[in-house]
Amino acid sequence: MIESSLQATPVLVCGGAGYIGSHMCKQLAHAGYLPVTFDNLSTGHRWAVQWGPLVEGDLLDTHALRDAFSRWSFAAVMHFAALSQVGQSMAEPERYFRNNVTGTLNLLEAMQAAGVQALVFSSTAAVYGNPASVPISEDQAQQPINPYGWSKLMAERMIAEQCRAHELRAACLRYFNAAGADPEGQTGEAHEPETHLIPNMLRAATTTDGEVTVFGNDYPTSDGTCVRDYVHVDDLCRAHLLALEHARRAGGFHVFNLGSGQGYSVAEVLAQARALCNGRPAARYAPRRAGDPAVLVASARRAQQVLGWQPRYGLGDMLRTALAWHTAQADRAAN
Ligand code: UDP
Repeated sequence: MIESSLQATPVLVCGGAGYIGSHMCKQLAHAGYLPVTFDNLSTGHRWAVQWGPLVEGDLLDTHALRDAFSRWSFAAVMHFAALSQVGQSMAEPERYFRNNVTGTLNLLEAMQAAGVQALVFSSTAAVYGNPASVPISEDQAQQPINPYGWSKLMAERMIAEQCRAHELRAACLRYFNAAGADPEGQTGEAHEPETHLIPNMLRAATTTDGEVTVFGNDYPTSDGTCVRDYVHVDDLCRAHLLALEHARRAGGFHVFNLGSGQGYSVAEVLAQARALCNGRPAARYAPRRAGDPAVLVASARRAQQVLGWQPRYGLGDMLRTALAWHTAQADRAAN
């Protein structure tokens, strides 16, 4: 085991201790790579780093970055390290630009200095803002409506320019709503505070008197609640491996939406969660959350046609794997 990981090709995973990053490390290890996590553990977890070494460091620390690049000869970088809460970005925009934009710039410079030429970047549907139409394709106007979305769009732009000027090969993956957990239960979502719908619902469903808050039921959708496009975290990670191969083969800069193309309203997600959890959780209706577009659904045609990628898991699988993870976490905390 140790011998084979010593021989594996190292890939730097910035943010590998986080939710999506840790699932990515597992898939990289299974694909024969050595995932080297670089993470400041501000929102990630030491326990989530299970498939390769952890370098505890911050992208704002150029010495720590340079040191990581000198210790391993990375074949590629996958970059998940970012602050990602929309509301927080509205209150503290400077923190988002420093962390997400300057951090990415430092990473690009370190890659260039070390001659590492392949990058997969974790982007977001938030770059589209309030879309003019759905499903959203990659060439639709990018007009973020919060600093988080802007920070990701600015990072994408920097990456595109590095590709043009320095022969970087890169793919930016615009995720819609990531959900679910490792089907083998080795890692999963653990944010504190948790803001996302599915973990909040499951937490409410499994605690006594738990109820989930539904933000807004007066949207122009069929049942008045927001519609989102949910993708299983393992499907997202599989797309990263395909995008990495594609960028290395084709060269240049590439952008892909990662969604299923199928939207579910908050009320529909709630109904499926209740079917799994003996009719729970109860719901409490609250006003709209600032900055939430009514409908975000991807056109995932490009990823399908160019990468041959299609989600394998549906919403039911996302809820089931997330529930198993959530229940195991709660049991661990209780014992
Ligand atoms: N949402 C909700 N209650 C919650 C969390 C989220 O009603 O406790 C709604 C939110 O307003 C949005 C949808 O669920 O319409 C998805 O939100 P989430 O934060 O999971 O992802 P986002 O779409 O903001 O990235």
